[in-house]
Amino acid sequence: MPSADTVPTTMRVVELAGTGGPDVLVPATRPVPHPAADQLLVRVRACGVCGHDLLARRGVLAATAGSVIGHEIAGEVVAVGSGVRDPGAWSGRRVALVQRIPCGACPDCTAGSTTHCRLGPGFYGEDLPGGYAEYVVASPLNAVPIPDDVDDATGSILSCGVGTGLRALRRAGTGPGDVVVVTGAGGGLGVHAVALARHLGATVVALTGSPAKEEPLLRLGAAAVLIAPDAARVRRRVAELGGRRGADVVLELTGAPAFAVALRSLAPGGRLVLVGNTEPALLPLDPGLAIVKELCVYGSAHADRSDLGDVVDLVRSGAITPMAARTWPLHEAALAHDAVERRQVAGRAVLVP
Ligand SMILES: [Zn+2]
Ligand SMILES: [Zn+2]
Repeated sequence: MPSADTVPTTMRVVELAGTGGPDVLVPATRPVPHPAADQLLVRVRACGVCGHDLLARRGVLAATAGSVIGHEIAGEVVAVGSGVRDPGAWSGRRVALVQRIPCGACPDCTAGSTTHCRLGPGFYGEDLPGGYAEYVVASPLNAVPIPDDVDDATGSILSCGVGTGLRALRRAGTGPGDVVVVTGAGGGLGVHAVALARHLGATVVALTGSPAKEEPLLRLGAAAVLIAPDAARVRRRVAELGGRRGADVVLELTGAPAFAVALRSLAPGGRLVLVGNTEPALLPLDPGLAIVKELCVYGSAHADRSDLGDVVDLVRSGAITPMAARTWPLHEAALAHDAVERRQVAGRAVLVP
């Protein structure tokens, strides 16, 4: 058991004073949480700022006044509960955390579908206090050790920023020979999804609204980058790259904006994976198109611990290089949100307590 006496009784957090603009994010003091017997106490070293956080702050999601948001967490295990098996494996370890702590015992968990578990401590920032804080509780069920040469800021984005794309590509069975269209490819999720799809052997057509993203996306392995294209242009490029009848897989990362174009680019039997939801809105799904082409539509949630473990291995082996992060001190969370909202951050914004 590490020196629990070095853990203070109170900690600095940034909480929501209400919902709305970035200025509702205010510094506050809270008691340090007590991990249960089967839990870990993690000293937060970095917490990523996700698009999800912006929605939560605006009041679109479950967070309310008083919530401490933040689910992209890396840190150091500073206390291990008495019921944790093999405490030596965790004590003092640097870890990245999956956004949800599952219960580990319900039918979903025992079937391996921990993202569906609703009986555990739950999702950081919604069901339990999140990572805009100096400490969070965690569990061997949602923590994965990270190598020494992966810095804290990088560690914080491995689950949500990278693992989400890996899970989505796997949901669609993406593999060698597939032509994959990625919408919102220039965003935090998108750049990693492009690199991961390439790593899985697919040919990638990246869609983005930003001409500045073309060069980086080509470097990540996209075979083509199309700037705000119409459906005909996407289909043409997909055909030139081997998808004569259309794309095998579309990874839809934007929500509404690129949906219609993405849908029309699919081949018969194509697989559409809905992942991103940056502008929550209903989508124009043409049933005729889905029926005639016998399309498969998947939803894909966050990474689970197994996905995160695979991401750590991919990073360790050099197969995937996570994008650089720009850091802000925790108490400047409002400034970080403001910069992200103004699209002033190339790479990921990360808060450091
Ligand atoms: Zn996230
Ligand atoms: Zn469960």
